Amino acid sequence: MSSRSALPSTPVAPATVLAAAVRSGERTALDVLEEHLARISDHEVDVHAFNLVLEDRARESAAAVDARVAAGGDPGPLAGVPVALKDNLCTRGVATTCSSRILEGWEPPYDATVVQRLAAAGAVVVGKTNLDEFAMGSSTEHSATGPTRNPHDLDRVPGGSSGGSAAAVAAGFAPVALGSDTGGSIRQPAALCGVVGVKPTYGLVSRLGLVAFASSLDQVGPFAATVADAALVCEVVGGHDPGDSTSLPQDFPRVLAHLDDGVEGMRIGLVTEMLGEGIAVDVAARVRAAAEALTAAGAEVEEVSIPAVTYGLSAYYLVAPAEASSNLARYDGVRYGRRVDAPTAGEMMVATRTAGFGDEVKRRIVLGTYALSAGYYDAFYGKALRVRTLIREEFDAAYERLDALISPASPTTAFAFGDKTADPVQMYLNDVCTIPSNLAGHPALSVPFGVGDDGLPVGVQVMAPALGEVAAFRVAAVLESVAPSAGAPS
Ligand code: GLN
Repeated sequence: MSSRSALPSTPVAPATVLAAAVRSGERTALDVLEEHLARISDHEVDVHAFNLVLEDRARESAAAVDARVAAGGDPGPLAGVPVALKDNLCTRGVATTCSSRILEGWEPPYDATVVQRLAAAGAVVVGKTNLDEFAMGSSTEHSATGPTRNPHDLDRVPGGSSGGSAAAVAAGFAPVALGSDTGGSIRQPAALCGVVGVKPTYGLVSRLGLVAFASSLDQVGPFAATVADAALVCEVVGGHDPGDSTSLPQDFPRVLAHLDDGVEGMRIGLVTEMLGEGIAVDVAARVRAAAEALTAAGAEVEEVSIPAVTYGLSAYYLVAPAEASSNLARYDGVRYGRRVDAPTAGEMMVATRTAGFGDEVKRRIVLGTYALSAGYYDAFYGKALRVRTLIREEFDAAYERLDALISPASPTTAFAFGDKTADPVQMYLNDVCTIPSNLAGHPALSVPFGVGDDGLPVGVQVMAPALGEVAAFRVAAVLESVAPSAGAPS
């Protein structure tokens, strides 16, 4: 491992502990904020987790939280907890760039529902985090603001697309952060940065104010240093939102209450197709060690084959670009952000989109437009939808017998900058284990479990059936409690 890292030099208190201290008046929200801003000022120059740090606004919100406490009120379950927001979540009057040149200068007129809910729970937004442009990528190398570096090793990527949020939590810039996950963009960076990352069941967390990439797959979820913090954020931001037509009419499952339930008697499957070809031997070994730990904790663990997941990547790279090509049509130089002037409206749009989008975004738009074009629609998009159904059916069949499934979250530990940028397929393969849960709409999370041969974090993915968050969190809590400590080779 490189000697250059940006991990916090002193332990960072979990959000649950910070909120309790602020609510009881033992610590002020301002004091908590300053501690995190100090870490940002020490290490952000190396990490580049943020597109924007909001010191002044954060100080104002922290002061408001302290005033509530001083007046005898309760600011809420995240009282005074600093949070970082992926820069594809709309923040009223604050630049929201999606790390794209095309949105330069745009300030949303409203807050995303999840941002409103965090504020209502007393959280303090410290900044907007870097991502691969429009959340398309697995390393943050496709960001118009430059890459984020992995706090465990500054010469390695943090994963992506929510690399800035994962790095912000790993570096102790904020105890919790929000990201979005369309094909793995929360779980893969969480794995590479050694933090917890959760993609909830599709429809459990509002997408209102999340800039759309592939609407049938996008979900918002948390990053945190602990499973309990991730559970708390899920309960705060989740639950029905009438402003999102795909929002489920229910609350987020009560995961916090079940974190200590253990896994005694649970039936857990180890997915055969996610342990073989393409998965690094040291990563597969950590996942098998996690399976043994779950057995020791009283679960029944067996290997299970889900053959259709091997088609997940191919189906995703038709469905996601198809939806993206439609969603990104709105960046026309008229309605948002940047415009490059030209003599006619048509030429203006071409010039704006040519200058405003990066190469990976253009690649997705071309791919998606092609997949949807007359004559190819059935052969490509239609077939991908049938594969999507098949994957969901095979998962559902497995969940008739099993409560949860485990696999690697990422096929490798953090890789070096430039390793995978020359060949898009190599980059896409990072999500081979995470994409199937997005296609199925099922919940899945990544929890740190020891390190690989290079000393860098490994994440175990825990998957569960739709609305099976309680099962996933129970497994994650057990793995967290027995995980070999990061930093010590296991
Ligand atoms: N890496 C995948 C992609 O590039 C997934 C991204 C995401 O989940 N937003 O599409």
